Amino acid sequence: MSNDLGTSQRALRVAIVGSGPSGFYAAEALFHHEELHVEVGMFERLPAPFGLVRYGVAPDHAKIKNVIKVYEKTMEREGFHYFGNVEIGKDITVHQLRKYYDAVIFAYGAETDRTLNIEGIDLPGSHTATEFVAWYNGHPDFVNHTFDLSQKTAVIIGQGNVAVDVARILAKTPEELQKTDITKYALDQLAESQIKEIHMIGRRGPVQAAFTPIEIREFGQLTDCAPVIDPKSLELSYASQTELEDPKNAPRKKNYTILKDLAKMEAGSKSKRIYIHFRKSPVALYPGEDGHLARVILELNELVGEPGHQKSRGIGEKEEIRAGLFFRSIGYRGLPLAGLPFDEQAGVVPNQKGRVQDAEHISTGLYTVGWIKRGPSGIIGTNKPDSEETVQCLLEDLKHLNPCKNPSTQQLTDLLKKQNIRYVTYEDWKKIDAAEIARGVQAGKPREKFITAEEMLNVLG
Ligand code: NAP
Repeated sequence: MSNDLGTSQRALRVAIVGSGPSGFYAAEALFHHEELHVEVGMFERLPAPFGLVRYGVAPDHAKIKNVIKVYEKTMEREGFHYFGNVEIGKDITVHQLRKYYDAVIFAYGAETDRTLNIEGIDLPGSHTATEFVAWYNGHPDFVNHTFDLSQKTAVIIGQGNVAVDVARILAKTPEELQKTDITKYALDQLAESQIKEIHMIGRRGPVQAAFTPIEIREFGQLTDCAPVIDPKSLELSYASQTELEDPKNAPRKKNYTILKDLAKMEAGSKSKRIYIHFRKSPVALYPGEDGHLARVILELNELVGEPGHQKSRGIGEKEEIRAGLFFRSIGYRGLPLAGLPFDEQAGVVPNQKGRVQDAEHISTGLYTVGWIKRGPSGIIGTNKPDSEETVQCLLEDLKHLNPCKNPSTQQLTDLLKKQNIRYVTYEDWKKIDAAEIARGVQAGKPREKFITAEEMLNVLG
């Protein structure tokens, strides 16, 4: 079988589902092949593009968001069409989409969180970090969530960069946050926060912590919050020392040096504390008389296994933290999408180097990139080679793809209009973007986000 896809007679038509970093790197990798004639339709269920860069990256990490400028260049490419406010699997099925595109790349990320099965996990006051992050970033699905910031103590489980983000946002003063693009309602509520103690709990040791040096160093630079680390918790076993000396663990060695420096810091007159705990796991949450979370029970751990593969194991000894706010920050998790195979265990779309694959065969024309391909790991830049790998597979398959029945963007937009779907184009997005930036100017912020799809669509009239 052969076809003329990708030629000047018949451009290759690729749909990308999701508009986060991995989707944009996939689009750019396609356009990068100058000899390839390609049309890309990018579908996003929210009106606003950029996924986790807009709704996941912490508001006080503005530099990381500069990567949006790179994605805007992709959006300006001839042959690129943005379809915001269109949910694949709901507004349009995967089956329908394939009638208009020769290949589909799924880039819809990991929307939910890993579960933590302990007693009391559903008590009022217990939340996921993903919920809190999406809330302070103004994600339309989370604007009505509430967090009891009248509590004095918060506990965060996990020591990845998301846990660090949550701790830092709780620790910062309103003055530190007000010049960021944090959503107004979140800033107002955080300004009233009574949280004075934040506990970040790692089940393993300082050498195994998942955060990165730049992020953990910031704990020492907060205006009104000091880090507290028990120096004893930084003592290393022979196995952890061996792990630390492994040259491929250089960032972890940096983490360790920073943690030792943080442990020596004087709190001075700072009013808040971030306590960093190692080798402890949550085992139960108990309510107070009012039914709200009041106590977090932790079990002390030891590490077992070979250097590089050490796991935590409870030693039976318990300790308690009196806390009314609890976040589990133990990693994101992907969700299935109707019409696609899904690996429940791993929370990803099963694939080989990005080619979607079920138990028996590889689905021709279906691909995946980013967190829904490999799981929720890595920084934004990790997605570039990951997406390029998938696009490479797609191009290797080019001659074997089934050309779609309706190779026409016009026919697709006719379908969307017929279904009364108000899709948001790149031109539309530029108007929404400009309106958000204008709102921000008044408040001295880079932007004031619209927090519902309706508000965004209202800008378009
Ligand atoms: P992560 O880096 O995978 O960290 C998850 C943390 O949860 C680890 O400390 C892990 O400990 C712990 N954990 C997992 N299961 C647990 C359990 N059952 N009980 C207790 N602890 C448990 O995930 P993340 O923080 O969600 O971040 C996701 C990705 O986004 C990461 O690659 C991260 O670097 C990236 N990110 C980057 C930035 C940035 O660059 N500034 C900001 C945010 C996120 P173990 O190691 O023991 O499993």
